Amino acid sequence: MIDYQFIKANTAAEALKILADKNNVKIIAGGTDVLVELHKESRDLEMIDYLLDISGIEELKEIKIAEDKVEIGSLVTHSRLLKNKFFAENIPFLTAAAKDIGSTQIRNRGTVGGNVCNASPAADLFAPLLALESEVVLRSQKGKRNLKITDFIKGPYKTHIRNDELLEKVVFKIPAGEYYCNFQKIGRRKALNISRLCLAFLTVIEDGVIKKAHLVPGAATPYPTPFKKIDDYLEGKLLAEIDPAETGKMAADAMVEITGERWSTPYKRPALSKLAERALSCVKEEAGYDG
Ligand SMILES: Cc1cc2nc3c(=O)[nH]c(=O)nc-3n(C[C@H](O)[C@H](O)[C@H](O)COP(=O)(O)OP(=O)(O)OC[C@H]3O[C@@H](n4cnc5c(N)ncnc54)[C@H](O)[C@@H]3O)c2cc1C
Repeated sequence: MIDYQFIKANTAAEALKILADKNNVKIIAGGTDVLVELHKESRDLEMIDYLLDISGIEELKEIKIAEDKVEIGSLVTHSRLLKNKFFAENIPFLTAAAKDIGSTQIRNRGTVGGNVCNASPAADLFAPLLALESEVVLRSQKGKRNLKITDFIKGPYKTHIRNDELLEKVVFKIPAGEYYCNFQKIGRRKALNISRLCLAFLTVIEDGVIKKAHLVPGAATPYPTPFKKIDDYLEGKLLAEIDPAETGKMAADAMVEITGERWSTPYKRPALSKLAERALSCVKEEAGYDG
């Protein structure tokens, strides 16, 4: 049995002091990942001496929306994310990703920060957050640092967070001009729907031309990675002339280039191709180029 002392911090300052003063501290937010690992007596948790509960820290629960920028506190739950009107109206693929996470109970407990820090290849929020070119704000007693979310991920279940740091918030710029986004997901079954595959697509259009494209699959590669090759292919083309099926196949090929042929490739190749096709078709339809 893993033996540890449970500590609860009520403010970020308290949590940061504990992280600075003590060794072998494991943060717990909603606990939907950590408690599973503790229950399994995961080897990764054998070394912990303290479980630091940050779930009561109010200052980490804020969603701030400015004119061009969004800040999501690390303790914002998936339920709060999906109920947020601004996101539903302006960043709907984030709402769609949050809506499909687990079950109501998981969405009520699970947090944005936990999803990002756990860095599971199947973490659903990563795809839209990567497509939005988000940054994470990490805080320690020494100060704050911002990291691009792409630079924050070190590998599957690994990030560049230091032992004395807390993820304070995730920030991103609201896309400017005419933009469209879409999220697609396939899970094993509806009730507790951990992604078999998901995909987020965001594009900015100017006079019908794709100025910016971000296609990011989830659970397709060892850790969430933007498919820059597809983005480069799409950018500069007329949205009306994009063939979603062909782009879908290219995305599937890009996945296999990263992963190599694996036991899951016969399933994932056509599945990812279809998800990308659907995302692009939805965006074309929404933009009025489906004819
Ligand atoms: C039945 C079930 C279904 C699920 N379905 C899905 C799904 O469909 N999609 C999906 O993406 N996920 C799913 N999950 C995984 C999980 O619910 C999410 O990843 C959730 O967002 C984790 O948040 P949490 O607050 O519970 O994290 P916790 O379990 O509290 O923590 C997760 C990790 O993040 C660290 N951490 C948390 N907050 C911080 C912080 N502020 N600063 C630094 N480190 C921090 C912890 O130390 C730990 O390493 C599911 C889990 C279960 C049990």
